[in-house]
Order: sequence, then C-alpha cells, then structure tokens
Amino acid sequence: MASASVKVAVRVRPFNTRETSRGAKCVIQMQEKSTCIYNLKQPKDAKNFTFDYSYWSHTSSEDPSFATQRQVYLDIGEEMLLHAFEGYNVCIFAYGQTGAGKSYTMMGKQEPGQQGIIPQLCEDLFKRIVDNTDPDLSFTVEVSYMEIYCERVRDLLNPKSKGPLRVREHPIMGPYVEDLSKMAVTSYSDIADLMDCGNKARTVAATNMNETSSRSHAVFTIVFTQHRHDQMTNLDTEKVSDSTGAKGMRLKEGANINKSLTTLGKVISALAEMQSNKKRKSDFIPYRDSVLTWLLRENLGGNSRTAMIAALSPADINYEETLSTLRYADRAK
Ligand code: ADP
Repeated sequence: MASASVKVAVRVRPFNTRETSRGAKCVIQMQEKSTCIYNLKQPKDAKNFTFDYSYWSHTSSEDPSFATQRQVYLDIGEEMLLHAFEGYNVCIFAYGQTGAGKSYTMMGKQEPGQQGIIPQLCEDLFKRIVDNTDPDLSFTVEVSYMEIYCERVRDLLNPKSKGPLRVREHPIMGPYVEDLSKMAVTSYSDIADLMDCGNKARTVAATNMNETSSRSHAVFTIVFTQHRHDQMTNLDTEKVSDSTGAKGMRLKEGANINKSLTTLGKVISALAEMQSNKKRKSDFIPYRDSVLTWLLRENLGGNSRTAMIAALSPADINYEETLSTLRYADRAK
C-alpha cells in the first residue's frame, strides 16, 4: 500500500479510433484497487498491481465502475486541495506514454463534465475563498507555468523570453527559477486564460519538433497564500506537473533519454522507502540529479503531499510501454 504522503492512481483510457480500426485488444483489467495486465503473446503471463485507485473506462459512462472526470477530481484533486488549505505543499503529477491520457486527466476538455483535475481544483479553490466567512483571513493566489525540456527551463507565460531561465536556490525558500513570471489571479477565469496561453506556447513547440512532446515536462504552479490578520501564516504551494514519458522508453536507459523522469522515479521510491523504514535522514534522496526533481524538492519531500496518476493505453500494441508505466507507478508506492 502506498505510504501516507504519496497517493498512486492508474487510469486506463478508452480505445482511440486508430486502435479500434486495427482491431486492438484490451490487455488491462481492473477490479477495485487492482490492475492486471495480460501479455497476449504468452497467455499465462498476467501481472497484477495494487494502487490507491485503479480507474476503469471500458464500460458505459453510466456504469458505476466507469471513472468520470468528477470522480478522479473528488478522489485526488479535492484531497490535495484540502491539504493545501492545511498548509502542506502539494504536488499532483501525471505520467505515461504519449497519447495515454495525461492531458485529459490533468486539463481535460471544455465540454461539461470533461474538465480535468486542474480546472476543477482551481474552480474549487476560488469557491472556497469566496465562501470564507472568517473576516481575519485573506488569500492571494499566483500562478506560474513552465516547461522543462532537456534540463532547460522555459517560461510558458512569457514564451518570448530569451534563452533558458536559471535555476537557483534561495536559502530559506529552496530551489526556484530566476525571472519566471508569476501572475496574480483573482478568479478561475484568470487562471483559465493563463493556462490557455501557456498551452499554446507548448503546442507550437511540440509540433515544430517531433521529439519535444516526449521529453517535455510542463509544471503549472499555484502559489496559494493565506494571511491571518496582518501576518502571513501559511505559504502553500500547489504544483501540478504533466510529465510525458518517451514512447518505448525503458527505465534502464532512461538516465540518458529522460533524466527528469528517471530521477523523479528514484526520488519518489526513495521517499516511500524512507517513510516505510521510518528513517529520518533524507541525504540520499537524489533531488539534485535533475531539474524537475530539484524544483519539486519542497513538494515531494518534507511537509508535502503528492499524488501520481499513471495514464495507460488499453491496447495490446502498447503492451511494453504500458507495463513499464505500471512498474514505474508501482515503484512510487
Ligand atoms: P497525453 O497527454 O498523455 O499525450 P491525451 O490526454 O492527449 O494524452 O489523450 C489522448 C486522447 O485520448 C485525447 O483525445 C483524449 O481526449 C483521449 N482520452 C484520454 N484519456 C481519456 C479518458 N479517460 N476518457 C476519454 N478520452 C480520453
């Protein structure tokens, strides 16, 4: 079972038209928390995993076993938002092969019922702020949005800024990106506009460069501050990261292909191990080995709560990638 500070979910998407037209077969089965993957080439080869949540989508959307966007938000997003109000640093990230459903889970679509975790969480955040009845409490919300590509950081809210931004370390606040835009927002629609803008800056890069999408990590950060009287009592940072796994990536080779993802896996399993062994020392957690983990340091260890959602394709043709995604998620527990 996952340690208290890391929640691990897997979500299998429906077949896409390409898979359906090729007659692809479903190699995933889910029951409650368990997920099983079958190797159709070796009929007796079935591997079973258990996660905090296993989200199914191969029934009618009316069926209770079908995981709706709302359900995923209520299980994971809302819990993380409540932790942010309690003063934890919170990090939600999605992992998986290109096309497996990371963007759908994190961002979703505009249509009713199709919004992903980030829009629902932002909407909920502002609703809770508006509903606050404590006259001594006030709140500020700021957002930033960056892309890490080949260990270089780009500002998605200021895509024209020249060259990669520098990663520095503040003696108290920890690692940060120098000159990264941070915009104050006062409503959900402010956030939605900024997210749209940033997503466009990402997509342009992805279509221009074939490899980009599989090696790029987008990190959307909400800095949520609660003030009591004139004193700042809490500084909660919410980070939402959408990390894309390279197609056909093998974790062993990952160090050369995708340092951020491999290091993220190591950091999370080291943290999980540290928790289960009740070790206090965090010296061996390799945060510094990649830009992504270095920047997420405060959000992964210490005073933090993390949720990871591994996105899976159901199709037999993606068996190897899907198995490697499941193993990655399994190591995070
Ligand atoms: P990724 O971000 O991992 O590359 P996407 O989120 O863009 O993948 O998903 C690929 C396609 O599959 C999109 O058209 C998306 O709408 C669809 N999709 C993904 N997950 C689901 C799901 N759970 N339910 C319905 N459609 C999904």
